[in-house]
Amino acid sequence: MAIASPVEQIKERVSLIDLIGQRVRLLKSGRNFKGLCPFHNEKTPSFYVFPDRDGYHCFGCSQHGDVFTWVMQTEHVDFGEALRQLAERAGVQLTSRQARGVEDERRGRLHEVNAAAVRYFQSMLFTPQGAPALRYLDERGLTRATIEAFQLGWAPDSWDSLLTRLAQDGYTQDELATAGLAVERETEGHYDRFRGRITFPIHDARGETIGFGGRGLGDAQPKYLNSSDSPIFTKGSALYALDVARAAIRKEGVAIIVEGYMDALAAHQAGIANVVAALGTALTEEHLNMLKRLAPRVVLALDADAAGDAAALRTLEVVRATYGKIALPVADRRGLVRLRYDQVLDVRVARLPVGKDPDDVIRKSPELFRQLVTEARPILEVLIDAELARAGADPIARGQAADAVLDVVKDLPNPVVADQFTRLLAERAAVDYEALRLRLHDLRRAARRRVGPAPAVREAATPEPEPMRDWLTFEEFVKTRIASNTEAARPVLHDLSPDDFYRADARAIFDAWQPLLAGSEPPGGDDLVAVLDGPLAEHAAWIVAWGAALPAAETDELVALVTHLRMLNYRREIAMIELRQRDGERPVDAVEREGARLLELITQVRHLERLPGGRLTRPWREVFRAEARLGPLRTVARERRPAALDQPPPPLEEAAS
Ligand SMILES: [Zn+2]
Repeated sequence: MAIASPVEQIKERVSLIDLIGQRVRLLKSGRNFKGLCPFHNEKTPSFYVFPDRDGYHCFGCSQHGDVFTWVMQTEHVDFGEALRQLAERAGVQLTSRQARGVEDERRGRLHEVNAAAVRYFQSMLFTPQGAPALRYLDERGLTRATIEAFQLGWAPDSWDSLLTRLAQDGYTQDELATAGLAVERETEGHYDRFRGRITFPIHDARGETIGFGGRGLGDAQPKYLNSSDSPIFTKGSALYALDVARAAIRKEGVAIIVEGYMDALAAHQAGIANVVAALGTALTEEHLNMLKRLAPRVVLALDADAAGDAAALRTLEVVRATYGKIALPVADRRGLVRLRYDQVLDVRVARLPVGKDPDDVIRKSPELFRQLVTEARPILEVLIDAELARAGADPIARGQAADAVLDVVKDLPNPVVADQFTRLLAERAAVDYEALRLRLHDLRRAARRRVGPAPAVREAATPEPEPMRDWLTFEEFVKTRIASNTEAARPVLHDLSPDDFYRADARAIFDAWQPLLAGSEPPGGDDLVAVLDGPLAEHAAWIVAWGAALPAAETDELVALVTHLRMLNYRREIAMIELRQRDGERPVDAVEREGARLLELITQVRHLERLPGGRLTRPWREVFRAEARLGPLRTVARERRPAALDQPPPPLEEAAS
């Protein structure tokens, strides 16, 4: 389990009042402190420190920030150095993450090996040796454009043609073996894994080649063969055509899964672009995890036979494993963003006409295929029908069938969805709904008893290391969402600057991200972590991982979030000016200046509210209301020790010494 990051620990341990008190003589002003600004010349204090927010703000020259910013501005150092100084002061151990670069390089080399193999196989398809393969692809109705777009190729029927060709490009036999393209001989040396096969390059979501599928011609066994697993390729977690289908899946809100490469290619050629294929394996939880980030609905296009039913029900077990793992962000009353895990991935089954596979249906009528997908039934409904059909008319067997369905229903995290399926079961089984509801209640209670109170006892016995917090501040949430879809973030980037991030650590991370986000290739989560080192890398890794349970963000959402982020900053400043206005001893020119600034800020907020996405939606209203009371450091303490909230600020002498 992760431990609170050094950034968090420093914020927790270093008192801003003590730190600033070393340089500035602070006077108490209500709950806050004021003093002569160290950043500009003045005779009456307009530099304020707000202990509740762990921030300082000068109303004369507008310098502001937190513990990190203070060290950066007074010592003239960058964030990394401020972090090191404060870590030393707070007794926090800093770790580094240097192993990463080496690992990245190794993976990059494997991508290169695969890309070189793609080029070689592609070139072989159009030689006399590849003629039978090309003929086969023609017969299956694939156009040259499709063959080229999907980089199909031919691996010659030879033991070493790929090894020999890639050796000329400087790739070693070991590298090919590691990439899953060559097999080690028992005696010595290696031989080509793909021999006499049509090759289908498999990419990751970002378009890097990670492996191949190979189809034998004629009676070759096995009919399909994949690259062996490698550091960049795992059969159970890759999906064919995902890189090409990704945008369409997002747009349509549906991912269609077919069984074979040829099915997927036929669909894409017919303009049905939201289609991917599993690589000859049943769907895994990893597959669903990838897809749930792109769309809320997954449709399995399966054969209309017993094998299709069995495949659907096997998938149901995997779907069940995701129950309670799909989240929705919600704001709590204190202005923190949390995840609520009660969403369910909507997995449906499309039934193809008997004896037809998707390839046949699509080639004959793409419209029919689209219609079948639209009419796909929820996977739980498939279970209900399959169980009842198996039970027949026998009353005992029907009772068992109902139990089998309710056993799945009881795990649904959303009670409304659970109730809908209970009603459907009542209707299909011609059973009284109330009877089923009681039975469901019993099953749930029995399941809870089996789980029992054991975890609480265990927890008490062995104190776990302090877990990373399970909430984010709003500006951390914005970064989580940007990381979830850096491609969609592009249009909002020109409008977002590091200054939009109030807290120094949030700003330092964004500083490092900005050039990467503006680069030609949208970066992945790993890239966003790799540009940082030390504790900030840990922190960024946590921010990137935090959003993994959420679907990827869309541009519209990001535009609204950035607008809200800006409004939050304006409102924060408004709140601070209002705090200061309660202080009676201000010079007249300061009163005027702040009045003007207040007007300017309010005008800005009104303007932003009129923009698309500028109206606050419900959860974010909560964030704004509470953010005024929120400081980056004390929130951790507050959560564990609610009583700390009411502690009075330290007496003046102590703070000013
Ligand atoms: Zn100042």
